[in-house]
Amino acid sequence: MLMMWFRRCLPFFLGVAVITATFGLKAGEARNTRILGHHVEVELYLKEHKLKAMDHLLVQAKDTEMFSCFLNKSFQVLSVNSLQGKLDCKVRNAAPGKGAAAHPDMPGQPQRLEISIPQELRALSAVTIDVEYEGILPSAPDSLEKEDVGDTTGIIGEDGVYLSPACLWYPDEPDSLTTFKVTVITPADYEAITEGSLVNKGSSGGKSFSTWEEKNVSDGCNLVAGRYKVTAVKHNGIDVYAYFFPEDQGLVESYLNATKRYLDMYQNLLGNYPYGKFAIVENFFQTGYGMPSYTLLGSAVVKLPFIVDTSLGHEILHNWWGNSVFVEESEGNWCEGLTTYMADYYYKELKGEAQAEDYRRDICRKYTNYVTGQNGFSLKDFVSRRDQASRAIGYGKTAMVFHALRRMVGDELFYRAFRKFYTDKIWQNASWKDIQNTFEGVCGKDLAWFFDQWVIREGAPFLELGKTSVEKADDGWVTHVDIIQGTPPYQFQLPIQIGLDNENQKTVVDIKEKVNAVSIKTKLQPLNITVDPQCEVFRRFYAEEIPPTIDSLLGDENKIIVYPTGGEAASQQAYKKLAHLLAGNRGLVKADKEITETEVAQKSLFVLGGLENKLTGAFLSSVPKNFLLKEGEFMAGNVTYRNTGDALFVAVKNPKSKGKGVALFFGIGADTINNVGAKLPHYGKYGYLVFSAEKKIDSGTPTPADNPLQRSFKN
Ligand SMILES: [Zn+2]
Repeated sequence: MLMMWFRRCLPFFLGVAVITATFGLKAGEARNTRILGHHVEVELYLKEHKLKAMDHLLVQAKDTEMFSCFLNKSFQVLSVNSLQGKLDCKVRNAAPGKGAAAHPDMPGQPQRLEISIPQELRALSAVTIDVEYEGILPSAPDSLEKEDVGDTTGIIGEDGVYLSPACLWYPDEPDSLTTFKVTVITPADYEAITEGSLVNKGSSGGKSFSTWEEKNVSDGCNLVAGRYKVTAVKHNGIDVYAYFFPEDQGLVESYLNATKRYLDMYQNLLGNYPYGKFAIVENFFQTGYGMPSYTLLGSAVVKLPFIVDTSLGHEILHNWWGNSVFVEESEGNWCEGLTTYMADYYYKELKGEAQAEDYRRDICRKYTNYVTGQNGFSLKDFVSRRDQASRAIGYGKTAMVFHALRRMVGDELFYRAFRKFYTDKIWQNASWKDIQNTFEGVCGKDLAWFFDQWVIREGAPFLELGKTSVEKADDGWVTHVDIIQGTPPYQFQLPIQIGLDNENQKTVVDIKEKVNAVSIKTKLQPLNITVDPQCEVFRRFYAEEIPPTIDSLLGDENKIIVYPTGGEAASQQAYKKLAHLLAGNRGLVKADKEITETEVAQKSLFVLGGLENKLTGAFLSSVPKNFLLKEGEFMAGNVTYRNTGDALFVAVKNPKSKGKGVALFFGIGADTINNVGAKLPHYGKYGYLVFSAEKKIDSGTPTPADNPLQRSFKN
C-alpha cells in the first residue's frame, strides 16, 4: 500500500517529476487504527530552521494494542502521552516507498512510531495521544527561480516556511482523511497560513500566533509562513485573503477581485464553496499549487498576466474537484480533466466560439503529437502528469470526454448531474464510476458504453471520409457519405457541414459502426462537405491537419536536434545545452557537421542557431517570406532584430519529407538562447514566435492547407 499526496499544479507548467514522497506499510500488514483528527501546535524557529511541535492526535484504537504512524525521519520524538500518562513508543526505520527510494536524501523519508495502547484505553472508542517532537529541516529549496514541481517538501528559513504533507511534519498514517486544527507560532514579523478558517490570532513577547481549523476532512495539511502583508475582505460570507509580499501589493486588488468573481461563478454553477476562506498566498520560490482553501503561487508566477485570467480560476475550482470531492486515485484521476474543462476551457467558451474551437483543436493536436502506441494509456490509469503525453491524456482527452458528455446530455442535465455529484460525494473519495452512476441517475439511461469506451479503453477514434456522392431529388439534393472508423468502433455524435452557395448547413449524425452510410438532404446544390468542422469530437488527427509547431517537432520521437559548430563559443555552448533540454528522452542530438543527407531527407529537424548552423541555409527558402535570417540578425515583418534578448522561432514542413517538420531557432546572445530556449516547450501550439528583450512580441500558427475530412463536389 502506498501513500501519495498530489498537489494540483497550475496547468501551464510542464510537469517533470512525479510529485511527493511515498511510504508504505509492510506487506500483509492490516491497519486497524485510524486518525480521527489532528490538533497541532507548532512553533517555527526560522533562524535555526527548526520546528517544535505537539500533535494531539485523536485516534480510533478500540481493541488494538498498538497505534502506528509515520513522522519525518530527521525529527526527534520528545514525549508520547495520553491523558492517563506516558505511553511506550518505539521508533523504527520505515521501509522506504517509491519516492524515498528515488530521492534518498529527501526529508520525506519516514520513521515509524509504534505506540503501545495500554489495556485500560483499548475499551474507549477514541483516545487522545499527545506526540511531542522537534526537528530541523533544510532552510531553502534548491532553486528560487526554477519551477518546483514537488521536489521541495519541507523548508524552514528566514525567507519563508513551506511544510507539505509529504514532508511528514506531523504524525500521519497512509491514506488518512482527517480533520486539522493547527496553531502556528512564528516571530512577530511573520504571518502563517494553513487550511481551514482563522479562529484565533494575536501576538505577544515578540511572537505572533494564529489558529486555523477545518472541521471537514482533508487528505493532508500544508503550512506556509512568510513576511506577508495580509489583506482580508469578506465576500458572501467567505473570508478572502491575499498574503502578498510588501513589494507586490500592487497585485492584490486584481487577485481579490478575480477571486470573488470565480467564487461567484462556481457557486452558481456547482453549489456552495466548501470552505470558510480562500487565500491567495505568494511564495518566495516558484510554485503553482492549489491546496484546500488556498493557492500558493511563486513570486514570479503571480506576476504572469494570464494567472489571474486562467490559472487562478482553475485553482479555485479545485476546491470543488479534488479538494472537497477527493479523487479515488486507484481508478483514475478525473479531477484534472474536469477542472480543465470547467475552468481553462470554459473561459475560452465565454470569450467566443472561435477561441473554444482553437482550444479543442489544440487538445487533439497535442494528443496526436505526443501520444503514441508506446506511451498511451487509458483514463482509468491516469494519476498525475509526468510529461507532455500524460498531460495530453489526463488533462486533454479527459476534458474532451466531458465535452462529449455535455454535448450528448445538454447543458441543463450536465450541470445538474455535477451539482448532484458534488453534493453526494463531498468529503469522500469519488471515482469515474461515481460520475457514471450520477449521470445515469440524472439522465435516466445506461451510460456504461460511454464510460467504457472513453475511460476504460485507451486511444482515440480516427475518422476517414469514405466515398461521397450527390444526387438530385425532387425537392432538393441528397449528399451520401461514408464515415469510416477503426474497430472496435466508437459511438459518438458527429457534426457534418455541407457547404451551399451562400451558407453552410450543419447536421449532427450518430456514428457507431465501422462504416456509417449517412445521407443529408439540402434545398440547394451542395458544393462541399466537411466532417467535424469545429473539432467537437476527440480524435486522432491526420498529419495533414497538423501544422508545423513546437509541439509537432518536440512530439516527433525520431526528430534530430542540431546544434551549430560555428559562431561564438558561448552561444555554441548554449545551443548545445538547449539541444539536450529539448530532446528530453525523445530523439537524437547532433552537431551540424554530423548530419547526413539521408537524415535531412527523412527526419524532423530542430535546427538551433542562425547562419552559423551549417544546416540553416538549406531551409531558408522554405521559411515564410516575412522572416529573413542574416549574419547576426533577423528580420520579422519589416523590423530588424539584432540586440541581445531578440530571438526567432519558425517551423515549416520539411520540404524533403512529407509529414516531417523543420524548426529554426535563432537567439542573439548566449543568455537569450538559454532563457528563451528553455521557454519554448511552453509555447507548443505556435508555428512562429518573435521575442524582444526575451519577451514574446509576436506569434502565430499557420492554418493547415489540407483537410482530409473535407471534400469539394465537382459539377
Ligand atoms: Zn489542476
